[in-house]
Amino acid sequence: MRALVVEDDPVSTRLLEYALVAEGIVVECSDTGEDALELAKIYDFDVVTVDLGLPDMDGATLIRRLRNARIDTPVIVVSADARRDEKVRVLLAGADGYLAKPFDRDELRAHIQAVVRRTRGYAASRILLGRMTIDLATRSVDIDGRSLKITAKEYGILELLALRKGQPLTKEAFLDHLYGGRDEPEQKIIDVFICKLRKKIAAMTTDAHNIETVWGRGYVLNDLPAAAGGGVPGLAEAGTVFALEGGPGVSEAELLIEQIFA
Ligand code: CA
Repeated sequence: MRALVVEDDPVSTRLLEYALVAEGIVVECSDTGEDALELAKIYDFDVVTVDLGLPDMDGATLIRRLRNARIDTPVIVVSADARRDEKVRVLLAGADGYLAKPFDRDELRAHIQAVVRRTRGYAASRILLGRMTIDLATRSVDIDGRSLKITAKEYGILELLALRKGQPLTKEAFLDHLYGGRDEPEQKIIDVFICKLRKKIAAMTTDAHNIETVWGRGYVLNDLPAAAGGGVPGLAEAGTVFALEGGPGVSEAELLIEQIFA
């Protein structure tokens, strides 16, 4: 995952960056609204955190401008301002969540995971891909209920592909999300990671894997099909089964607005 932190206070920036990096998230920082708008137009972030008091514009204006520019990346406001009308104002401007400072790291993580998976169309934190399950909360993957032993980078690749299921990802996009321009290795490292991942998956499935090469466009993740002669017939053909424990529907922002106006 990749996050943009918009914050002008260096201490808050450092705290947020530290908390996000600990979650395996690649972080880009910006201390002005204009700078953040430019970055958000150029790069594909999974989430943006916004401080309300920026030197060149207030947070609500930034969020409105992001939305007007058709950037629908989830936005979480991180602010020391706990006034209700301020919360309502930024949520109505297009924010997806509101976190009060000082924030708790678990709360930040839960918030980010919730808004990111919802914008990618998943209501629950477990993504079901045929025989494979990716758990965004525990950052783990299993096949037929058995744990797939992978490194943090390999998990990052599967998570990235799962959150953009059906969409081929270029090697450049992988590098952006896994390294964010820092100490970025050559693109062929992605082929090496994919090759290792396919082998690990195949070792648990008598040779099946679900990472497809899309010629000239990169890689795409599919459902992991049922074992030949075994498994549940028709399950693989049925396409992705989304976990819907939480039910589809209302976002956290909508819930908060409902609570405030209740
Ligand atoms: Ca500030």
